[in-house]
Amino acid sequence: MPTKIGVVGCVGRMGQMLVREVLHTKGTILTAVGDRAQSPAIGLDIGTTIGLPGLNQMIRVIDESFFADCDIVIDFTRPEASLFHASLAAKHGTKLVIGTTGLDKSQEAMLHEAANRTAIIYAANMSVGVNLLLALVEKVAAALPDQDFDAEIVEMHHKHKVDAPSGTALALGRAVASGRGVTLDDMAVMARQGQTGPRVTGEIGFATLRGGDVVGDHSVIFAGVGERIDISNHASDRRIFTKGAMRAALWLAGQQEKGLFSMRDVLGI
Ligand code: NAD
Repeated sequence: MPTKIGVVGCVGRMGQMLVREVLHTKGTILTAVGDRAQSPAIGLDIGTTIGLPGLNQMIRVIDESFFADCDIVIDFTRPEASLFHASLAAKHGTKLVIGTTGLDKSQEAMLHEAANRTAIIYAANMSVGVNLLLALVEKVAAALPDQDFDAEIVEMHHKHKVDAPSGTALALGRAVASGRGVTLDDMAVMARQGQTGPRVTGEIGFATLRGGDVVGDHSVIFAGVGERIDISNHASDRRIFTKGAMRAALWLAGQQEKGLFSMRDVLGI
């Protein structure tokens, strides 16, 4: 039996690519597509809406029946929407892949709560390369004393991105903090301007750039005296995210346990 996949936010930039990805993935079948209730696309065929032949698959309002029709739902939307979808997934035991970024701490706590009742993968960046970067950064941070190496995180994204720093930059900050045995909240400096004074030892600094069509660049710089280590990932095709999301969905299909999982669980790193 093919795994029944639903895509919410299906007319968004990522959603459209996810629909194509599901159609190209063996062992899966696209059973439902949905978007926000106010979307002019509701009721239209997803195929013709995104430039494919008609698929006889109409874009739906997302409700309980939507989740009942799917084994796994993939969600790249907005934080409030993803929480609503998590509550529906928990109610129906539908598994959920969430790629939405910009969730705050209380929203993440609500995701943890929903994951007591179903299996959820939540990752601010689904790319395999970035997840390897996260694992590497944690190891490097653990090896370099913070009094000798200053950690700075630089990210750049396209001009349409609505949250900053990126979810991935924050995840990289948490990886540095974890490697150093500290918490990011205690060490993060999100921006600098004016008379900031000298850098405080152990700070984890962030810089955010926005412009053009940049898919996603992330660098973690460990700056010492006499040498500097840069570890970077440059995404040039958004398909890396949808391919990662499908890999996550296929991993979830074989997952028996409930709980909140990450791409590191999916990749076994
Ligand atoms: P987008 O604005 O193009 O698409 C968002 C879609 O969600 C739209 O179709 C919108 O109508 C829909 N939506 C909004 N509110 C909704 C609701 N209440 N119910 C159902 N649908 C709703 O944005 P995008 O570029 O596709 O990005 C979407 C999200 O994915 C963002 O948070 C972005 O940062 C994130 N993202 C994550 C990764 C990753 O690897 N995790 C990669 C790229 C983008």
